[in-house]
Amino acid sequence: MTIQWFPGHMTRARREIQEKLKLIDVVIELLDARLPLSSRNPMIDEILQGKPRMIVLNKADLADPAVTEKWVTYFKNEGITAFPIDASNGTRVQDIPAQAKVLFHDKIQKQLNRGMKPRAIRGLIVGIPNVGKSTLINRLAGRNIAATGDRPGVTKGQQWIKIGTEMELLDTPGILWPKFEDQEVGYRLAVTGAIKEQVINIEDVAFFAIKYMTQYYWDTLQERFELTKKPEDLDVPDEIVQVMEEIGRKRGCIMSGGRVDLEKTSGVILRELRAGKMGRFSLEVPLSFML
Ligand code: GDP
Repeated sequence: MTIQWFPGHMTRARREIQEKLKLIDVVIELLDARLPLSSRNPMIDEILQGKPRMIVLNKADLADPAVTEKWVTYFKNEGITAFPIDASNGTRVQDIPAQAKVLFHDKIQKQLNRGMKPRAIRGLIVGIPNVGKSTLINRLAGRNIAATGDRPGVTKGQQWIKIGTEMELLDTPGILWPKFEDQEVGYRLAVTGAIKEQVINIEDVAFFAIKYMTQYYWDTLQERFELTKKPEDLDVPDEIVQVMEEIGRKRGCIMSGGRVDLEKTSGVILRELRAGKMGRFSLEVPLSFML
């Protein structure tokens, strides 16, 4: 379920996370590898107040691997360790407890020096709706414990889930709101399904996606739908609409009278994109790599 965020929700979400932060040692900031900045909470630094953290780029199976590598370097340059994972298949999720140990190394060493047995490192996963928090918790726990669905107001007894012998994870993730500051960010989020189509017009989202794919991933788009004509001028909306219509015809999205049903076509486009059927793609590249 996608939440519509209002100032009241944001304040409450923030308060809930800050309550949880008191209990934990390490934050696992989960971002969508296809759009790490747009899927990042705009106030995250302020909210985390210097807690040790790692950035985990989820859904890396859907993202362009070359671009994901650039994001890893980008965050490294910002002083934060980042790495890609695929929570659905479990790829690299074990790097999370390993990285937690690295972040916590000094404290563990101190405990050992005092002759104490180090206690388990306590972690919290935070991220925007739909980024894969529950999937990751389940994957790390090795069984189904985290409830899926996002209800920031719901409070229930919190539990620690053991991840191996050296880490524990809070079973309820911290749910954050995405950026809302510009339309482009909204479209990117909507393409991945992080914002429901009820909020943004589905045909506009599919138009944005097709324009983007035409510009950066034309070959995969063309191959998937056996497209015949690449738009010459991406700034001419009609040319993009023609691509959408060709896709609609290929998928049988035709209204009575023979016209292409653009709404239905848009649904097909977004479903196939989100399922990775149009190949792997990233919706954002770090600015420093574009210059
Ligand atoms: P949450 O709202 O952050 O808890 O997100 P969920 O865990 O409910 O995941 C949202 C959707 O993304 C679900 O359909 C998951 O199956 C899917 N998902 C989560 N992680 C991955 C991943 O690494 N790769 C892919 N392809 N899908 C994922």
